[in-house]
Amino acid sequence: MEIESIMANNALIKAREGGGGKGRSWKWKELLRFPHVRQCMDLAMNIERDYFSLCVRQPIGKKLFQLFCRSRLDLHVYASLQDALVQYNLSIPFLKDVAWHLRSLELDPCGDVFHDCREDLHRYLSGHPFLQYQDSMFFERFLQWKMLERSPITKHTFRQYRLLGKGGFGEVWACQVRATGQMYACKKLEKTHIKKRRGESMALNEKQLLEGLDSRFVVNLAYAYETKHSLCIVLTMMDGGDLKYHIHKLGPPGLDSDRVRFYAAEVFCGLNHLHQQAIVYRDLKPENVLLDLNGHIRISDLGLAVRLSEGNLAQGRVGTVGYMAPEVIGRKYYGMSPDWWGLGCLIYEMTAGQLPFRAQGEHPKVSEMERRIQTEKEKYDAMFSIEVKDICSLLLTKDPEQRLGCQAAKEKDVQSHPFFQSINFRMLEAGLVEPPFKPDPRLVYCNDVQDIEEFSTVKGVSLDQTDSDFYSKFNTGSVPLTWQNEMIETGCFKELNLFGPQGSRTPDLDW
Ligand code: ADP
Ligand code: MG
Ligand code: MG
Repeated sequence: MEIESIMANNALIKAREGGGGKGRSWKWKELLRFPHVRQCMDLAMNIERDYFSLCVRQPIGKKLFQLFCRSRLDLHVYASLQDALVQYNLSIPFLKDVAWHLRSLELDPCGDVFHDCREDLHRYLSGHPFLQYQDSMFFERFLQWKMLERSPITKHTFRQYRLLGKGGFGEVWACQVRATGQMYACKKLEKTHIKKRRGESMALNEKQLLEGLDSRFVVNLAYAYETKHSLCIVLTMMDGGDLKYHIHKLGPPGLDSDRVRFYAAEVFCGLNHLHQQAIVYRDLKPENVLLDLNGHIRISDLGLAVRLSEGNLAQGRVGTVGYMAPEVIGRKYYGMSPDWWGLGCLIYEMTAGQLPFRAQGEHPKVSEMERRIQTEKEKYDAMFSIEVKDICSLLLTKDPEQRLGCQAAKEKDVQSHPFFQSINFRMLEAGLVEPPFKPDPRLVYCNDVQDIEEFSTVKGVSLDQTDSDFYSKFNTGSVPLTWQNEMIETGCFKELNLFGPQGSRTPDLDW
């Protein structure tokens, strides 16, 4: 490895080790200084006074509303009840595990028994207490946090570390928020490339879809901003590398059967989350499935994903050669079926170390690949157990109507296939299953910096007003849920959320 690479890797490893505020800029408190309450008046006038959004869904809003309840004798008990319900929710997966064993008795002792209780609680709190909250210093503080959340985002918000990968419109870099020390991956889409290849709607589509998602199996969007030359989307950092790297770059191609099953199950959950929002993903392949340092995966790269409007189908020959489903190649109308084909390809490739219709090191022409996908039957060698072979051949059914996952029971058929028998999906969804492989935190799981091809520059493209209009739609700054979680997880919320007389910040000596 070259010295340049070693240094880039060391810098990254050191940065991500910095928990407990180590990675923060020395002037982080200044960067996160609350505006005066008077400066929040406009926001106070315009913010939608919706109880669920302000006090339940937004993480900082929820914390401040709870602090408010705790500060009031008459509401104290409700705060405790809420805590108890959260505890109960965390234990549900275990109870449901029991329920699964009792299924033959047709009992469901663990259906959400506290559902009514929670509804009552929220009905009560959203009435008078919510009105009182809005007159309290806790709500003023919430507005101050919201103002910080809306601060403009520029390249100076971040420190940049090494290059992680390269995509169609630009590069992906490791970065760190100066104010909080949080690590992210920044996907830069070059403006000239976007324009030359008319990628505007694609870039905006990716950003807007990510903004509306909240799943532990899909990367989160934290920020969207622009620089002179690029549009940037800042995503959950996935330090464990992509599955392509794990399948092909570490030892003999392919993965152990435990890992194959675990990754397939988590990808299933991610696809399912997208499908529930009527989104077809269309680009499932190992390089778009990323590992974090704990060994969990997330689906990334929603550049080709599309949301279907009520009852509509998609048509569009998009995807990656080798992974496209027959109905996509054949320009038919389709719903979610290409993703189940994609899952078949992924399980196949993780098991065999090569694609179903292309041998190791072979480079057939596109038309030949497409012919094979549409007409040939894939082959299974001794690597495939009976269950793996069965689920692959059901998912790789050419006719989408006959394919596993595309019939009346939809995804349920995939989930209940014997291949997934040992997976407890409720535990998995709650993040409570221990991954079979944990990446080494002292390693960087991607190609050496100098082995990642340099991004070519485009000449002769000039940017004008219509481009600026599009950029302003893209450039929306922080995404509230992710930003608020960042403040809480990095400890910044706790350290800054102090109250002094009349709700002012306590004067802090080191300011
Ligand atoms: P494209 O849409 O151009 O294919 P991707 O979003 O797939 O771009 O990113 C290209 C590569 O960059 C990925 O294959 C992966 O190796 C790396 N990468 C992308 N997102 C992340 C992330 N969140 N964390 C770590 N690496 C990433
Ligand atoms: Mg990609
Ligand atoms: Mg893409």
